[in-house]
Amino acid sequence: MSTTRPAPSISDVLASGDHPMMSFEFFPPRDDAGVAQLVETIAGLDPLRPDFVSVTYGASGSTRARTIDATRLIQTRTDALTMAHLTCASQSVAEITDAIDAYAEAGVSHILAVRGDPACGPTAPWEKHPEGLDNATDLVKLIKASGDFCVGVAGFPDAHPEHHDFDLDARILAEKEQAGAEFAITQLFFDADAYFRLVERVRKLGCRLPIIAGIMPVTSVSQIERFATFSGADLPAPLVASLHAVADDPAAVRAVGLQVATELCDRLLAGGAPGLQFFTQNRSRATAEILARLRQIPPHQG
Ligand SMILES: Cc1cc2nc3c(=O)[nH]c(=O)nc-3n(C[C@H](O)[C@H](O)[C@H](O)COP(=O)(O)OP(=O)(O)OC[C@H]3O[C@@H](n4cnc5c(N)ncnc54)[C@H](O)[C@@H]3O)c2cc1C
Repeated sequence: MSTTRPAPSISDVLASGDHPMMSFEFFPPRDDAGVAQLVETIAGLDPLRPDFVSVTYGASGSTRARTIDATRLIQTRTDALTMAHLTCASQSVAEITDAIDAYAEAGVSHILAVRGDPACGPTAPWEKHPEGLDNATDLVKLIKASGDFCVGVAGFPDAHPEHHDFDLDARILAEKEQAGAEFAITQLFFDADAYFRLVERVRKLGCRLPIIAGIMPVTSVSQIERFATFSGADLPAPLVASLHAVADDPAAVRAVGLQVATELCDRLLAGGAPGLQFFTQNRSRATAEILARLRQIPPHQG
């Protein structure tokens, strides 16, 4: 199955520097109630005119099938370009190739190539499928060899938790670019300087990959602590203190979380980040509020 990328692709828009790209990440719903919620969320976010939306890829066989179904559903419900995620965890090359073909058949020409994690989390020892691929760089090569896909990859401002080696992460991003990746999206983080340091490290290696910043709107203390543990993101002590100070008041926690996210987005855009990807958790309100607040902030000078 061949695929032809639409014009403009994500990489074309990033290269044009026309505007910072805004995108929303969704996950495949687990049941009918989840599908209904996702449809409602997309309807709520579509007026914000995202440049693209993306759909995460689950590790188990049944989740994988749901991912492809959800990708099709989302593609039909939004005018935005739809990007599918793909991993190489727990799959043979034949299974990964089937997923690439299914995406091509669904008309998806943008893929975020990530390795995936062992079922018990990103710090558990990685085990390659006996007939599979060892890392995301090899996945990029496989996707690029399979058709005219525009491929993105993951980046880690707080370092990938497996090695916690900032320089290794930068070298790997440069290798992914050489393998054919055209942009990166980061893991969630809370310190804008960590993002700028990542950009500086990869640029020193001659890597030109545009790096879109991944933003998690914080709406509950337990949620953000869980995500930070799972992703390896650093939770700055002042943020933890201000969230815990109002932990008994959900509205106040939300207010702190949205303020922190808005300030982070503003600093990133002012510092030249080419785009923001919101991890929506299949909910629309927090992302919509952050974007509304950002649009009230006057443009930065110079
Ligand atoms: C934006 C974003 C979206 C994501 N979407 C999904 C999703 O849909 N589904 C999902 O399951 N997971 C998803 N993840 C999580 C991701 O799968 C994990 O973070 C995973 O642990 C790393 O993926 P990677 O693509 O960076 O892997 P890789 O680049 O393969 O790196 C994995 C580890 O191997 C090491 N490594 C890689 N290459 C080399 C090398 N040549 N030499 C030495 N060490 C090496 C790296 O240092 C790192 O520690 C996403 C992450 C991000 C940031």
